[in-house]
Amino acid sequence: MQKLNTDIAVIGGGVIGLAIALQLQTEGREVALIEPNEPGSGASYGNAGTVADYAVLPVGTPSVLRNIASLLLNADSPLSIRKAALPTLFPWLMRFAYESLPHRFHDNTRKLSELLSDTSSEWLDLAAQIDASALLSAKGCLYLYQTEQAFKAAQSDIALRRSVGIDQELMSPDEVSRMEPNLPRIDGGGLFFPKAINFTDPGMVMKRLEQAALAAGVLFVKDTASKIVRESGSVRVTGNTTVVAARTVVIAAGAHSGRLAAQTGDRVQLDTERGYHLEFDMDEMPVKRPVCPTHHGFYFCPMAGRLRVAGTVELGGLTAPENQRRLDVLLSNARRVFPDLGAPSRSWMGFRPSMPDSVPVIRPSKGGKDVILAFGHGHIGLTLAPRTARMVSGMIAA
Ligand SMILES: Cc1cc2nc3c(=O)[nH]c(=O)nc-3n(C[C@H](O)[C@H](O)[C@H](O)COP(=O)(O)OP(=O)(O)OC[C@H]3O[C@@H](n4cnc5c(N)ncnc54)[C@H](O)[C@@H]3O)c2cc1C
Repeated sequence: MQKLNTDIAVIGGGVIGLAIALQLQTEGREVALIEPNEPGSGASYGNAGTVADYAVLPVGTPSVLRNIASLLLNADSPLSIRKAALPTLFPWLMRFAYESLPHRFHDNTRKLSELLSDTSSEWLDLAAQIDASALLSAKGCLYLYQTEQAFKAAQSDIALRRSVGIDQELMSPDEVSRMEPNLPRIDGGGLFFPKAINFTDPGMVMKRLEQAALAAGVLFVKDTASKIVRESGSVRVTGNTTVVAARTVVIAAGAHSGRLAAQTGDRVQLDTERGYHLEFDMDEMPVKRPVCPTHHGFYFCPMAGRLRVAGTVELGGLTAPENQRRLDVLLSNARRVFPDLGAPSRSWMGFRPSMPDSVPVIRPSKGGKDVILAFGHGHIGLTLAPRTARMVSGMIAA
């Protein structure tokens, strides 16, 4: 076993762990980042690339709760469940149902809106720091409502977003057609988030984060952390080939963080919402900005040299392989909007780290601030990475 001593050990090299490691090392601390795979190759690689500071509504809403049975049991819906995973998922689902009740939904929306405020400007700063500004696009983001009924049903969510200060513009079907002329005409309407920014290559952003962390002096340890033990004056993290002793350990292993947190006495109801993407290599994009047909639960994302169709939720745990049925549904729904889409160039599945209330866990361990928890970012982890890094830094400094 190789033994290392460091000031801070960060477990997990996704966007959250990378941003935390870079922030702390830049502040003059000595950081070791433990990651068994290519950094940034988990959920942080395959997402929709939106810096979604407007995404203040949790996944669990009163409307989702009303329709939960039909949503979950229809294999083609944007929110599905692997039936084999039902018994394991039951406690998470019960909590999710509770968090979807109106009073919890409002409370969770408020928490998310506080967390998300100003995250775009924090990303603009971080992108400049890691030489990724050229990977940012600032053309806003567009939600589509297929029918007048769907548009009407969305009005209460729109009002709630407005009440927490989100910039959004209602659009008629004609205005949608003018903004995105290649889209087929819709009967409902659109909702435009004019200030939204997005990345045109999340994988490349992860590379730039990794390079910046390396250049700042972060030590990358290629290992899987399996055991965390508090000792007097330090915390010991044991992997397959290394033992890292640190003054502070940050658990940022995305959807895999639950078991690690349990070892420090922190029982959290973390599970995963598996998400998928398909990519179509092309030069001319059919859309100019991220466009989300809300009834399908995915985004069309114009990216460097390819259109990425990313999203949907499958509750199904961390071990089952990619579900071809979900990819087929994604493809057929994408072709409902753009019938000329050819065969996809590649597909992907990743694990969102998901809490039942959609609110990430960013706090010191119950046993003391020698361990900090930073996971559970669900659908907004890319967006929240710089904010999370600052919060963790503040907790360590306090
Ligand atoms: C289809 C899809 C679309 C999305 N779209 C968006 C979007 O547009 N905007 C947005 O903000 N968010 C989006 N998200 C969510 C976002 O991608 C995630 O919230 C975010 O990537 C989570 O980052 P993370 O670092 O916590 O997890 P990950 O990126 O999964 O990283 C966790 C890392 O921990 C490592 N690890 C695991 N176990 C251990 C261990 N024992 N020891 C050491 N390392 C370990 C893993 O190898 C992995 O590299 C989307 C997600 C999906 C799936």
